[in-house]
Amino acid sequence: MAVQAVESSTTSSGPADSAAAAGSSVSLGPAVALSCRECGERFPLGPIFACAECFGPLEVAYDLPTGDPEGLRRRIEAGPNNIWRYAPLLPVPADVADKPNLNPGFTKLVKADNLARELGVTGELHIKDDSGNPTHSFKDRVVAQAVEAARAFGFTTLSCSSTGNLAGAVGAAAARAGLRSCTFIPHDLEQGKVVMAAVYGGDLVAIEGTYDDVNRFCSELIGDPAGEGWGFVNVNLRPYYAEGSKTLAYEICEQLGWRLPDQLVIPIASGSQLTKIDKGLKELIELGLVEDKPYKIFGAQAEGCSPVSTAFKAGHDVVRPQKPNTIAKSLAIGNPADGPYVLDIARRTGGAVEDVNDEQVVDAIKLLARTEGIFAETAGGVTLGVTRKLLENGVLDPTLTTVVLNTGDGLKTLDAVAPTSGPTAVIRPSLDAFRDAGLA
Ligand SMILES: *Cc1c(COP(=O)(O)O)cnc(C)c1O
Repeated sequence: MAVQAVESSTTSSGPADSAAAAGSSVSLGPAVALSCRECGERFPLGPIFACAECFGPLEVAYDLPTGDPEGLRRRIEAGPNNIWRYAPLLPVPADVADKPNLNPGFTKLVKADNLARELGVTGELHIKDDSGNPTHSFKDRVVAQAVEAARAFGFTTLSCSSTGNLAGAVGAAAARAGLRSCTFIPHDLEQGKVVMAAVYGGDLVAIEGTYDDVNRFCSELIGDPAGEGWGFVNVNLRPYYAEGSKTLAYEICEQLGWRLPDQLVIPIASGSQLTKIDKGLKELIELGLVEDKPYKIFGAQAEGCSPVSTAFKAGHDVVRPQKPNTIAKSLAIGNPADGPYVLDIARRTGGAVEDVNDEQVVDAIKLLARTEGIFAETAGGVTLGVTRKLLENGVLDPTLTTVVLNTGDGLKTLDAVAPTSGPTAVIRPSLDAFRDAGLA
């Protein structure tokens, strides 16, 4: 499909507008439409993200393969060891695994017995370790869906506003898919994030401002001829992108032996991941792949960027924007798009939203490394730090099955632990010197 002129609309961009108008349709597996999360209005699949009726956010609606849970489970289990084993539940074509992509997912679910002992957890404690993805964060899952949508809609440039990990994931996925990329980040990110975002060869633009400034800039770019024909994975492709987070829910349940956990602790940046994990769990129940039972969802933020936990604790439905100031830069979104939905899910499931300060983040990173050999980035420190705080406050039940997400790799945020992680001793190469150091 050729890239055509962008219509002058604030809610849509790209070639599929004209395709939809002309009555042609794209095929994205079991996805049948986009539906408004506020008013339920439906729209044909296209690169649109806001409801033309009420401006509410759109999400993918499906015709899911119900009726034969055993057959579906066998089909999934026979699939590849990556997210495409769940292709029947995602907005992607059936032959997606044959295309050039990074094949993320099916990361380890680590039973964290040492950590459980340390935290006084007597039930099962698991870490879902997404640092094992191709670009070392959970973002490869969401970008993989956006790439399929971009292919379907005929976009040739991939873009995004990013807190760091997303730009790397987009750069790598675009390189593999043979697309151009041009990504946007705040100017003050960690070196590990900047290098990873640049090394795959796409254009990377650092903007003098916060993530929220970057995001606002990208929204302007979408309505401008300069951004014509571009697929912004987390803006005009956001409904498809967001679905990638469902694969975390699917994997966790499958890896627990097709069982729902009792409690999940999930980090919040925009809140998209948390809301789609809930969507994924509900689908598994609806499809009969897991036994229906209650589960609680807990959200984790850094104190220096805690708009959602602040609203949760105050009993508010509205999330008031904040100006971020935290070492957990990947979670530093001061005006989270999915904030109100996160509040709703935490309250509906009987969960909570909590925050920890930077010192507690660093302590948690080191605790996880020391007990389980997993080196998490600051976002993982936030999530484990909040888990520890919720256990201490009696909000999390230590006797149940709990899953804590680690969404990124500590090698990208070395500065957080570098000041307190160095050699135990520096010595001359002699046995005398080693004995003198007192380590023998
Ligand atoms: C982006 C990101 C998240 C959360 O993203 P949402 O916007 O809430 O979906 C969590 N952890 C890491 C490491 C991330 O990069």
